[in-house]
Amino acid sequence: NPLQGAQFVLAAHRIQQLPADEGAEVAFAGRSNAGKSSALNALTGHKGLARTSKTPGRTQQMVAFSLPTVVRGETSQAMATRLIDLPGYGYAKVPEDLREHWRREIDNYLHVRRSLRGVVLIVDIRHPIKEFDRMMLDFCLATLLPCHVLLTKADKLSRNQASQALAALRKDIGENAPVTVQVFSAQAGTGVEEARAAVMRFLER
Ligand code: GDP
Repeated sequence: NPLQGAQFVLAAHRIQQLPADEGAEVAFAGRSNAGKSSALNALTGHKGLARTSKTPGRTQQMVAFSLPTVVRGETSQAMATRLIDLPGYGYAKVPEDLREHWRREIDNYLHVRRSLRGVVLIVDIRHPIKEFDRMMLDFCLATLLPCHVLLTKADKLSRNQASQALAALRKDIGENAPVTVQVFSAQAGTGVEEARAAVMRFLER
């Protein structure tokens, strides 16, 4: 597992506090409680790397995890690589001004971060795409930033229902978008290898 070496670096309240903007990183985004922490833990193979919680949205931070250095093919250049866990978005009990702060900060991050190679968007497979998810997808479409959607908690649906949800989202997004979509379950381990491959594809890009 190439993501197994992930290590906590820091938690930031502002973009300026993140590690130096060099090398390559992949950001994880999603609505609160979508299953983002569980997905991160499944991908890295560390149970407690990102904190999972039944009471979402209490601590809102961007968390940086370092990965082992990636050596790029053509140049053989060693490159620092990271995963960035963006704050879960949209938890109702978070005051409106704090939500607005994070909406802006995430938007800002997507615009300014030069080492950002791709976004993994975590969506609960049982819920339709919400405003935040739409914002992320629209941003990726507009800027051609690659996005990989994990339709997670697939264990909550039958296999048939899960494929239907996948097909519906694919249709919604359209053929030519720089967006890939897969079924995922942190709990059942579904699609973990496929998701790791997507992250590595972004980092090596
Ligand atoms: P986050 O707020 O997006 O980081 O979400 P968490 O990873 O903390 O998960 C929120 C809740 O969903 C927790 O109760 C998890 O146990 C549950 N959850 C996360 N992933 C899965 C999954 O793949 N299957 C099921 N059934 N539950 C999940």
